[in-house]
Amino acid sequence: MLSKEEFINNAKGGKILTRKCTKCGHLHLVTTYFCQNCGNKGFENVIVDGKGTVATYTIITVPPEGYEKDVPYAWIVMNVDNSELRISGFMANIKSPADLPLGIRVKITGYDEHGIIIEKQ
Ligand SMILES: [Zn+2]
Repeated sequence: MLSKEEFINNAKGGKILTRKCTKCGHLHLVTTYFCQNCGNKGFENVIVDGKGTVATYTIITVPPEGYEKDVPYAWIVMNVDNSELRISGFMANIKSPADLPLGIRVKITGYDEHGIIIEKQ
């Protein structure tokens, strides 16, 4: 099982704790009973570097409650290097698409009340 606390501790260190299929090597971000790729039931915990590129994002200018002090920010989907993993997180101070070209290098730098924190590399 993946514990939330372990996942958060890894994210604080710039790492991603994943569940790797022991048969095909497919990585999963959440605990699953069957590999989403091959249906195998065996997994092991694998820690990967929280680095990659921006796949897509949404700039938030109208914040949900509790995030008023943080706008504008971006909610980012990142392609993790050397895997098919996609992970989403928070990037502060993004005002317009000019601030964040798609494909730019980014990395996980922490975890707080926003969730995973992503910054430009
Ligand atoms: Zn598999």
